[in-house]
Amino acid sequence: MIEVSKKCIGCNKCVPVCPFAAINMIDKKATMNEACTLCGVCVQVCPVQAITITREEASARDLSGYKGVWVYVELSETGDKTHPKKIKQVTFELLSAGRKLADELGEDLCAVLLTDKNHGYEKELGEYGADKVYMVEHDELFEYNTDIFSSVIVGLVTSHKPSIMLYGATIQGRDLAPRVASTLYVGLTADCTALAIKDGLLLQSRPAFGGNIMADILAPRSRPQMSTVRPNVMKLAEPVHGRAAVVVRESARLDKSLRRVKVLERKIDHGAGTARIENANVIVSGGRGMKTKEKFKQLEEISKLLGGVVGASRAAVDLGFKEKTHQVGQSGTTVSPKLYLCFGISGAVQHIVGMKASDVIVAVNKDPNAPIFNVARYGIVGDVNEIVPKLVEALKKGK
Ligand SMILES: Cc1cc2nc3c(=O)[nH]c(=O)nc-3n(C[C@H](O)[C@H](O)[C@H](O)COP(=O)(O)OP(=O)(O)OC[C@H]3O[C@@H](n4cnc5c(N)ncnc54)[C@H](O)[C@@H]3O)c2cc1C
Repeated sequence: MIEVSKKCIGCNKCVPVCPFAAINMIDKKATMNEACTLCGVCVQVCPVQAITITREEASARDLSGYKGVWVYVELSETGDKTHPKKIKQVTFELLSAGRKLADELGEDLCAVLLTDKNHGYEKELGEYGADKVYMVEHDELFEYNTDIFSSVIVGLVTSHKPSIMLYGATIQGRDLAPRVASTLYVGLTADCTALAIKDGLLLQSRPAFGGNIMADILAPRSRPQMSTVRPNVMKLAEPVHGRAAVVVRESARLDKSLRRVKVLERKIDHGAGTARIENANVIVSGGRGMKTKEKFKQLEEISKLLGGVVGASRAAVDLGFKEKTHQVGQSGTTVSPKLYLCFGISGAVQHIVGMKASDVIVAVNKDPNAPIFNVARYGIVGDVNEIVPKLVEALKKGK
């Protein structure tokens, strides 16, 4: 419920910022009409705190109206209006996971796309499983902005009432999802590693207590049930060529003054490794068992010969063998290359959660009981000091 108190001074600040044209100034008092989605933008701009929104805890009856699994579509940041942005792979991963959830619930899977210009995005979204694409096209959506994007999402959610909403645990998703959750007064489970349906509810699993236990989280009393999922965690389904999604165009009236933050300059550092490790097809990782920085460098050679990149366990990073941006695992990057080679890594749970989705894992460890062998397809029990030089030699010969 939205209320305007006697404090309203009729300053008119809330009228132009409302994305849904839901406010009229009547007798010098802001008055909301039926287009109001409770997005909360007017509350933010009111200089005298005259507007309040009360969000009641949903009752079981209220929840029955919430249907559908939504996936937030994240586009790449090109910083240049002349190059069409691409849909980030994490969106397709979430659609792949969302498809299974939607099928189990017997509901629609919907993609939510906010963009300044549609470049036929619905084609790929449909092929990766979306039944519908809710699309908002507006110049103000050219680049991501917390205030603008969250107010549009809150408006769409309030109007269409999805039961589940998934975001990538990316820089953008980690910024957007909490803002949406706090505005709607619903929960958010960050960094989920598994999603399933249990008794009609979204079962959100994520590591807790430093990765020592898996916590299963349910949100029985609020909607939508919201989660973020890191890139490379959910398996990508094969796209179904020609599968089409229905496009539902939504309008939003967006004013520049909604933006409280202006991006003056964007500097992306691709040199340090994060971007490369996240998308690499081959990763050659080393752990404490490599013993020294010099020995660790031998892994660079293997990686070069295989056309891959070097990864590291947290212990190796802490010892200064490799930069933090190359760390694989719970507090590093989650990866899913075609080939993951690991040398002198024990296989602690915090490392495993970051690489277990790799297609083929090969582990070298001198301890036959090292937990890394539980997830490795091929294991070599032996000393890295002997095996690494032999492997380099064999790869050179093979070339
Ligand atoms: C909150 C939290 C977050 C964390 N996040 C991460 C994370 O993101 N990524 C991560 O990796 N860790 C993370 N950790 C740390 C994690 O618990 C482990 O401590 C770490 O993964 C161990 O790294 P390691 O396997 O290289 O070292 P160790 O556990 O010390 O294992 C070294 C292995 O090398 C083998 N070895 C030794 N010498 C040789 C040799 N000559 N030849 C062959 N094998 C040899 C040993 O048998 C041993 O198995 C986290 C921990 C916490 C609490």
